Amino acid sequence: MNKKSEGHIAPYTRPAAGWDALKQVAINLVRERVAGSNYKTLFKQNQPDGFDCPGCAWPDREHASTFEFCENGVKAVAAEATSKRVTPDFFARHTVTELLRQSDYALEQHGRLTDPLVYDPASDTYRPIAWDEAFALMARHLRALPDPNQATFYTSGRTSNEAAFLFQLFVRMLGTNNFPDCSNMCHEPTSRGLPGTVGTGKGTVTLDDFEHADTLLIFGQNPATNHPRMMNELRDCARRGAAIVSINPLRERGLERFTSPAHALEMLTGASTTISTLFIQPRLGGDFALIKAMAKRLVERDDAARAAGQPGLLDREFIARHTLDYAAFEADLRTESWDLLLAESGVPRAQIEQLTEVYARGKNVISTWGMGLTQHKGAVKTIQMLSNLMMMRGQIGRPGAGLCPVRGHSNVQGDRTMGIEDKPSQAFLDRLQQVFHFAPPRAHGLDTVDSIQAMLDGRVQVFIAMGGNFAMATPDTPLTFEALRRCALTVHVATKLNRSHLVTGRAALLLPTLGRTEIDLQHGVAQGVTVEDSMSMVHLSYGINQPASASLLSEPMIVARLAHATLGSDKVDWLRLGGDYAAIRELIERVFDDFHDFNARVAHPGGFHLRVASREREWRTASGRAQFVPHAVDTDTPIHRARARHGARLMVLMTMRAHDQYNTTIYGLDDRYRGVYGLRRVVFINPADLAMLGLRAGGHVDIVSVWDDQVTRRAGRFLLVEYDIPRGCLGAYFPETNDLVPLHSTADGAGTPTSKSIPVLLEPCGE
Ligand code: SF4
Repeated sequence: MNKKSEGHIAPYTRPAAGWDALKQVAINLVRERVAGSNYKTLFKQNQPDGFDCPGCAWPDREHASTFEFCENGVKAVAAEATSKRVTPDFFARHTVTELLRQSDYALEQHGRLTDPLVYDPASDTYRPIAWDEAFALMARHLRALPDPNQATFYTSGRTSNEAAFLFQLFVRMLGTNNFPDCSNMCHEPTSRGLPGTVGTGKGTVTLDDFEHADTLLIFGQNPATNHPRMMNELRDCARRGAAIVSINPLRERGLERFTSPAHALEMLTGASTTISTLFIQPRLGGDFALIKAMAKRLVERDDAARAAGQPGLLDREFIARHTLDYAAFEADLRTESWDLLLAESGVPRAQIEQLTEVYARGKNVISTWGMGLTQHKGAVKTIQMLSNLMMMRGQIGRPGAGLCPVRGHSNVQGDRTMGIEDKPSQAFLDRLQQVFHFAPPRAHGLDTVDSIQAMLDGRVQVFIAMGGNFAMATPDTPLTFEALRRCALTVHVATKLNRSHLVTGRAALLLPTLGRTEIDLQHGVAQGVTVEDSMSMVHLSYGINQPASASLLSEPMIVARLAHATLGSDKVDWLRLGGDYAAIRELIERVFDDFHDFNARVAHPGGFHLRVASREREWRTASGRAQFVPHAVDTDTPIHRARARHGARLMVLMTMRAHDQYNTTIYGLDDRYRGVYGLRRVVFINPADLAMLGLRAGGHVDIVSVWDDQVTRRAGRFLLVEYDIPRGCLGAYFPETNDLVPLHSTADGAGTPTSKSIPVLLEPCGE
């Protein structure tokens, strides 16, 4: 048996990044056959006069170095700058059914889409179509709908501000607020939770704050894979002696040791930086109880200190001047049961006390978080509890301190700011009406899960997606496939082929667009687009490479031509806007006051910081004050009920990314930091659970999710991998395990699939 070809498991002993990152960069540039002339792309990545990395939403440093990219940023750019092409000939030779049998990795490897395509059911193939015909077809379908709410419009976080603004304007003029978007799957609980405590659904810190922080609490995040340039900030903080705590069921390599490729001496000497000073491994879904326990412990410590005549540990001046309802919150903490908090968090009391000490000693504390906090039923209240904890010590709205949700896609925050929102505020709709003289739809629309259900019910007949891989990013995959196939029309705007494009409605279009790295000429003038990163920095991005095909259209132009074809241009001169992005920005400025002097300000190298009121301690809550929100520990969840039925055999599964993966894009089959090579169907399990279940590492199991809708959800044949993960918890990659996430298992008040806490059973399957 050739281990290399069939994949293998081997512990990874080296620090994160280092030479292996550079090796992987070379492998991906070669694998994607990036033309030598396109290697220059890397030197313009995240540069003030260059393009914004189409990867994650980690901000760019003001004083950029020559190399402002990471290993995964190069994978994203190489995937776009590849010389491989998927042409109409390719589709003539491969039926959709045949392509569906290929792996997600293989589909990604075919290269860039070159021409607009229409699905031909008779031959089960995609064939070329002229752009005008494509827009006419979409317009026909949209105008034929008796109700515009029978269409839904998906946005992936790759979509620029200009395209997103035009998209929302067109769709609202059509008459609906159906805006599912990729943040529904990730930071929706952040966007829904934070307004209830601090008034704004965004983070309150900038990169500069990391230079002044002495304590970092990192919740449910794996930066070395998902936001690799964040490792530079963590390295600098660690070297400055900051306390860094990783709070995550997994001890991720990047939060243990890191060798910075940007530091030659470290690379040459094989040195590395120890990142975390403390690891806390709560069980899946245990973060809420853990954070509440920290708050309870802080009150106890404060009592003891004041009783001993020492200064208290709470920022009572901040609490008195800026907040509301602290007394009710504190009373709830005092009555809360330690036994319940310990049981639900899965963290020993001694560790909670140690963690609280670290927090209490911090003068300037930043809390960062990723999907580990957001993809749970109780995610909204977990984020509010974290906000409560930070408010207790006034750690919001001052230098070196604050809340830092780290978003996964380059412009996911910008899209929401531009109005990609199924629950728009009345104030925003009023302004749209004022500026564009139409009556926007006022009823809330459909998010991602609601859109899938509406397609299943036949209430939605047209699905149009700006980028993304909807069918693979969403839960309950077989149901989602069925939903898309019940549509009269599905449309995908994309750069590369993915599985969603092969899950067609009765009619389907696949429309190729320019990549972020490519020159976007409109009437001979290069156009720049803007994006907003996780820390509310808005900056310009200009492509530098020749387009992959002469037939590509930009995202703004695709939206403009669709709107023109569907609505005409009496109210809005769509085609002019599609060819002049500065003109779009002038309209954005008229709708959003925070974008005043937009074109002038964004022309500055590095762009500008979009004001976040809570960062300046202006609380846009109902009361105008920061709001403490008490929350009870939930003990009657689907997981509690499943545990009651199945006892210790019941496991809780989290879906996660491998290192060679970005969202649903599979760049490679390795996850080297976790010791996985050439494999995707693996499940990480605690050795004691292997013994308890009578299983063995290297054996294979089916994973079956436990849900109360009588639907059997099974993901077959996963290799058991022994791993340092809490008892009763499992980890496996998505999209392979998205089948197991029930469509309606979502975060309360946010609609985010609970992909980090799925109740499952393991069934041995033959070798
Ligand atoms: S950290 Fe994110 S934005 Fe920066 S280069 Fe890497 S993938 Fe791109």
